[in-house]
Amino acid sequence: MKYKRVLLKLSGEALMGDKLFGIDNNRIAEYAAEIKKLYQNVELAIVIGGGNIFRGVQAEKGGMDRTQGDYMGMLATMINSMALQAALEKEDIKTRLVSAIEMREIAEPFIKRRAVRHLEKGRVVIFGAGTGNPYFTTDSAAALRAIEMQADVILKGTRVDGIYTADPEKDPDATKYDTITFDEAYNKGLSIMDMTAFTLCKENDVPIIVFNMNTKGNLEKVVNGEKIGTLVAN
Ligand code: UDP
Repeated sequence: MKYKRVLLKLSGEALMGDKLFGIDNNRIAEYAAEIKKLYQNVELAIVIGGGNIFRGVQAEKGGMDRTQGDYMGMLATMINSMALQAALEKEDIKTRLVSAIEMREIAEPFIKRRAVRHLEKGRVVIFGAGTGNPYFTTDSAAALRAIEMQADVILKGTRVDGIYTADPEKDPDATKYDTITFDEAYNKGLSIMDMTAFTLCKENDVPIIVFNMNTKGNLEKVVNGEKIGTLVAN
């Protein structure tokens, strides 16, 4: 394996599969099967979003206080994290769910050294509840946890093959970058992660690989160092 420790970021929407809302059990089982192929060869941390259930920004548009909505969004990430944890355990994968908001009955609180120890022992660590703070996103949580865990790379699993010159779902002439620097991506206005997450990664020298998580075998290939997706680095 090329990487020793990786942080996989999945959006909440990735868990919807073909559904319009919530969690598709088949999709989550597929992800668990993908993770099973490689978890014994790499230390794996996971951050999942909550956008398939709740987003603070959208709630604010509907008149809700933003902070309240953001906490609801963070709780949504816990629901997704628990669903993935259940699917991983069904595959006999040892996991720990670590929450940025204390929920003692269902998750451990985040304690850096303890989380590192879980990774060293080969447990898949799922970080739930984002950063624990409103006005942030789970991309920022992924960047933060990757830095804290000293992960070699963030693997951003999406439904597209990488970063394109334009939206490949709208523009047939769009071409994919194999590699791009943080500065180039910034100057070209390409959205890879939100600016807070992007800046954290750039300043702390954490590369990001954007790849298609829905193609079977891709996750293992990326961890093996095969050149799929787009690598963003300094
Ligand atoms: N959220 C937050 N702080 C965090 C992470 C998430 O307030 O550190 C809230 C925010 O409302 C966000 C929602 O949780 O909209 C779901 O997370 P996100 O939008 O990042 O999920 P994704 O788009 O990856 O599914």
